[in-house]
Amino acid sequence: MDKDLTLSIIKPNAVRNKKIGKIISVFEESSLTIKKAKLTRLNKSQAEAFYKEHVDKPFFDELVGFMTSGPIMVLILEGANAVEENRRLMGATNPAEAEQGTIRSLYADSMTENAVHGSDSQKSAHSEIAFFFDE
Ligand code: GDP
Repeated sequence: MDKDLTLSIIKPNAVRNKKIGKIISVFEESSLTIKKAKLTRLNKSQAEAFYKEHVDKPFFDELVGFMTSGPIMVLILEGANAVEENRRLMGATNPAEAEQGTIRSLYADSMTENAVHGSDSQKSAHSEIAFFFDE
C-alpha cells in the first residue's frame, strides 16, 4: 500500500468550541493514521504566508484575522490517498454544501470558520508539512 501524507489543521473555532477530540476521533475511525500533531498559533505574517494564494480574494483579511484568533492544532495524516481521503472526511468548503456526517457539516460555524483545513494536492501537502514541521 502506498502511504501518502497530508496536512490537516483544526482551525481556531473548532479548538475554541472544544472539538479537537471529536475531530481526532473522525481521523482515528478512518483509514488515516496521525503521524505528528501539535497545538500552535499563527501570527499575522505566518497566516498571510500560509494562505498567500488567496491574497487577492475578498475574504483574505477575514480569513487571516480568523486564523490568528486563537490556537490551532496541526496534524500530519498518513495513509493511502491521504489528501483525497482527508478532503472526503472534511466535506465541502462551504459547510452548507458539506455532506452530512463530514467534519465541516458537524463543526463548521460559517464559510470562514469551517473547522478544518486539508491540503488540496500532494504538492501542497508537501509544502504545507514543511511549513509546520521539520520534514
Ligand atoms: P479549502 O481548501 O476547502 O479550505 O478551501 P480554499 O482553499 O478555497 O479556501 C481556504 C479557506 O478560505 C476556506 O477553508 C475558508 O475558510 C475560506 N474561504 C474560502 N472561500 C471563501 C468564501 O467564499 N468566503 C469566505 N468568507 N471564506 C472563504
